[in-house]
Amino acid sequence: MSESDLTVDVIVVGAGHNALITAGYLAKAGLEVAVLEAKSIIGGNTVTEELTFEGWQHDSCSSAHAVIQSNPVIRDDELGLISKYGLRYVHTEPAAVLPLEDGDAFVLHRSTEGTAAEIARFSRQDATRFVEMVGEWNSALKFALAGGAIPDRLDRASRWVGFRVARSQRCARGSLSRGHRPGHGHG
Ligand SMILES: Cc1cc2nc3c(=O)[nH]c(=O)nc-3n(C[C@H](O)[C@H](O)[C@H](O)COP(=O)(O)OP(=O)(O)OC[C@H]3O[C@@H](n4cnc5c(N)ncnc54)[C@H](O)[C@@H]3O)c2cc1C
Repeated sequence: MSESDLTVDVIVVGAGHNALITAGYLAKAGLEVAVLEAKSIIGGNTVTEELTFEGWQHDSCSSAHAVIQSNPVIRDDELGLISKYGLRYVHTEPAAVLPLEDGDAFVLHRSTEGTAAEIARFSRQDATRFVEMVGEWNSALKFALAGGAIPDRLDRASRWVGFRVARSQRCARGSLSRGHRPGHGHG
């Protein structure tokens, strides 16, 4: 294809998830969009690849799709990713397993209690602190999702999580009020 054949309305450079979401919204708005990706696989840092053994698929950047769940692109399925294209999150139990050098393994569970019990095998103090930390994170999340201020009593890490969520929510809300523009970030 020569340059003169390129008659699209918008060219998006790079096919990371932010670019793809942007391109999806532009296409939904009726524009003709071309996405140019340098690699042979699309998705940027959200790709799944065979990195070790044949048949074993890896999330190359080990990304956590947490905050994006409250973004309109997922929450309200604005681009039909769930209803039309079959996006489905698989929540495993256990959530993650870390093999240790001595043959033991550290197992992360979906429940706070399960993970705390696992941490307690190594340190009861850390297990207690973990439960406290999750409680604080959940408080921060609740305030942020409701659009409120993050309480001062939360520690620095929890406040950081809260602010990150609040910022994401502001992006989503601002995007909608400005006329249906996508938010960003898959955290
Ligand atoms: C190890 C790791 C773990 C992460 N974990 C998380 C997480 O858990 N949660 C979270 O929210 N964020 C996480 N992030 C950050 C998140 O992955 C990035 O913020 C996000 O991928 C950025 O998306 P993007 O679409 O803007 O760009 P990218 O995902 O970086 O994609 C850019 C794409 O553009 C292509 N490209 C670049 N230049 C050109 C060019 N000139 N021409 C054509 N194509 C080009 C690249 O090949 C690539 O495919 C992680 C990042 C890393 C590295």
